[in-house]
Amino acid sequence: MRISSHNTYQQSLSKKLTSWLKRHSRPLNPQSLEAAFLLLRLDLDRFSPDLELLYSASARGLPRFDPCCLLRSLLLMTLLGFTSIDKFAKELRRCPRLAQIAGFPPHKTPSVGAFYAFLDRLEDGPFKPKCPHPIRTSQLRKGRHRRNLSAEKLEKEARRKQILKDCDSLTHHLKQQLLQSASLARPLDLQSRLEDLLMKVAVKVSAERGLLGDLSRVIVSGDGSSLVSGAYRVGKPTCNCRKEGIYNCKCDRFYTDPSADWGGTLTESATTSATLSINTSYHLQATTFRFTSLSGLHLRLISRFH
Ligand SMILES: [Zn+2]
Repeated sequence: MRISSHNTYQQSLSKKLTSWLKRHSRPLNPQSLEAAFLLLRLDLDRFSPDLELLYSASARGLPRFDPCCLLRSLLLMTLLGFTSIDKFAKELRRCPRLAQIAGFPPHKTPSVGAFYAFLDRLEDGPFKPKCPHPIRTSQLRKGRHRRNLSAEKLEKEARRKQILKDCDSLTHHLKQQLLQSASLARPLDLQSRLEDLLMKVAVKVSAERGLLGDLSRVIVSGDGSSLVSGAYRVGKPTCNCRKEGIYNCKCDRFYTDPSADWGGTLTESATTSATLSINTSYHLQATTFRFTSLSGLHLRLISRFH
């Protein structure tokens, strides 16, 4: 059940902003003001039915936080440049103005655990009663993953050579794959949910307001930018080679990221996630519209899972 609609949020925050802006002795931080103006216009009610699906229909257990406010908080976190949910949750609890920009009453904000539980729900998708058989997607991501990056690199290289033998180029192979899957339904995963969020809350609204101009001339494109993974790049050894004085063994290691790969720029080497990375832009003639805040959240959420 929704606790407050976007209209209620808009009216309440507009009043607060008017009073905060009059207080010259304690002015609102410019970054928070900019974030508040952006969130004021972002109608998350459009995504509310999708968020409601993530929860059980029966109202059991503790009263929950409004999922739209949780989502808005994550957007606020991104807009303010926080990279740690732990630090942001503490700041949200400490600062009443920040709490109200997110849509919560002062000092009654979600705990760190509530944010992580919300991220798990977003990843797991529509609510299903607990059952010992299916493993939730969020469970698969957690913990350490036994991997051997050197062996994976060799396998990848062999696969690349095979593709080049069968096709003219990697781009041609990718085109073939995309055309083959064009008629298939999108998987009901986190990526799709975040794409729906971007589409319903930002792209469609912008189109309805005429901000995208002639829709028949809009070109949607995406790139495969790599994201820096939070995983420790060296991993934890599974063997006892170091005790025997062997420091460069090729044994398996445990990594927190199930899919990260070595990569980076020429000057900087980093562990990057290669599987889930997308940066969608909407081009209209020479102008590029970037839905920065939502795309930012999109990227941050994806990188959070690695
Ligand atoms: Zn070893």
